[in-house]
Amino acid sequence: MELCDAHCHYQFAEVPYAAVEQARRDGVGLVMINGTAPVDWADVAELGRRDSRNLLSFGLHPWDVPTAPADWAEQLRAMLLKNPAAGVGEMGLDRWVKDFDPVAQERAFRTQLALAVELNRALTIHCVKAIGPLMDILRTSVLPPRGFLLHSWSGPVELVPELAQLGAYFSFSAHHLIPRKADLRAQFAVAIPRERILLETDAPALCPAPEFRRHELAPAADGTEQNHPSNLVSNNEELARTLGVTAEVSAALTAQNFHRLFLGE
Ligand SMILES: [Zn+2]
Repeated sequence: MELCDAHCHYQFAEVPYAAVEQARRDGVGLVMINGTAPVDWADVAELGRRDSRNLLSFGLHPWDVPTAPADWAEQLRAMLLKNPAAGVGEMGLDRWVKDFDPVAQERAFRTQLALAVELNRALTIHCVKAIGPLMDILRTSVLPPRGFLLHSWSGPVELVPELAQLGAYFSFSAHHLIPRKADLRAQFAVAIPRERILLETDAPALCPAPEFRRHELAPAADGTEQNHPSNLVSNNEELARTLGVTAEVSAALTAQNFHRLFLGE
């Protein structure tokens, strides 16, 4: 059984490479590592050279829009051309983060969306408290034919059919392990088409409760707990329980979906 992590950030200093190697011993295979700003793209690319199972995605995260250099879009295009298999992301809209600038975020979103369409790359979208503005863009734009991932999906069930029609994939994360999130788990069971379900950690972000942790990472300097890449195993077990299938079946299903979205297979 091989698990595919559709969204993680192994380039962050909080993830020592020994933790990635531990995850591999625990059954994690292909992973999509998402850059978040020009400053970390070289580290993301280096991880790809280190192991061919480390797939790459380059993008400007909405939290990093205010501090991005003026030529970030040119740098992104160059990075994507140098890495023909890479995806675009993590990018998106976030109206939760302090002092967000909706106009600058939308401009960065549209720039990256256009690049994903032009270069036919898979797109990874972060959306927090911005589903309305996100829908406005998706409904009126040309979208990547390959499809796009709404990472750690937390939107309303009513939008699932339309989003699936537009090409969305939806990933199951530690966010969905929280007991009070039963309504979101139910979406994965009954509303989201099986061929659009992916599995992710967002490691080192989204640390699950202690009972779901396979291994521990050192907390960040401010005490924030960090999500170990091996915790994907727990996410898969909970997704399997949610879908009413075995862990082997959910691993195979999400691996097949991962290959289709990110590798065009
Ligand atoms: Zn992320």
